[in-house]
Amino acid sequence: MKVRLFEIFTSLEGEGILYGTKTLFVRLAGCPFKCFYCDTKDSLPMDSGKEYTIDEACKLIENNLEKNTYKVNFTGGDPLVQSEAVSEMAKFVKTKKIPTYLESSCYDSKKFSQVLPYVDYIKIEFKTPESKFVDPKHYSKLLENELQCLTLAVNSKKVTYIKVVINSKTQLEPFKKLLEKIFTSISKSKIAGFIIQPTYGIAEPSLKQLLSFYDAVYPYYNEARVIPQLHKFIGAP
Ligand code: SF4
Repeated sequence: MKVRLFEIFTSLEGEGILYGTKTLFVRLAGCPFKCFYCDTKDSLPMDSGKEYTIDEACKLIENNLEKNTYKVNFTGGDPLVQSEAVSEMAKFVKTKKIPTYLESSCYDSKKFSQVLPYVDYIKIEFKTPESKFVDPKHYSKLLENELQCLTLAVNSKKVTYIKVVINSKTQLEPFKKLLEKIFTSISKSKIAGFIIQPTYGIAEPSLKQLLSFYDAVYPYYNEARVIPQLHKFIGAP
């Protein structure tokens, strides 16, 4: 089996519930989607990066693991595109007794369930309709998969949190409908966080908008947080 990796590097986690932790990022090549605010566009083509055998990729991970690394992130692109390879690499990382972390848009619950046994932390990213992730006629299918992934993750007792990127074009009403679907699918006690992440440098939302999205989440989950991507403020990758 082969895997295409775009890059591998150590940095500080800049998103979500574990921000600030020293993390080895394994960025896989390839994502078939087109979010207008994507900040990893160079890694989207399937022929970006470099191809490795799984053994070579695991060796690369081993050679790049620095001391005191809190976790290893499988990111992209979208790592689910190469789900079998991610499972193999995550299995390897677990032999090193280091937690594994998956960041994905969860567009395919079958691929997600292949990777699930080998990851400890899961960020489920729900895309909002205006992200241009998919065209409107495919949005309900995407949502169905994201909700299935969320349910699978919490049922398998993984540390699971939700992230939603908010930009100046995000509409509140569809977001409220999304919240209703999320919190009828799972109990709030099953998630480890709900992160509202404002876009940075493109279609940035105002404070007023962010507060309205926070207010929408609060009745369902009063531990919601609005957190920008911290790594961008310190010039980290
Ligand atoms: S899913 Fe992620 S990697 Fe793919 S286009 Fe959207 S933001 Fe970029």
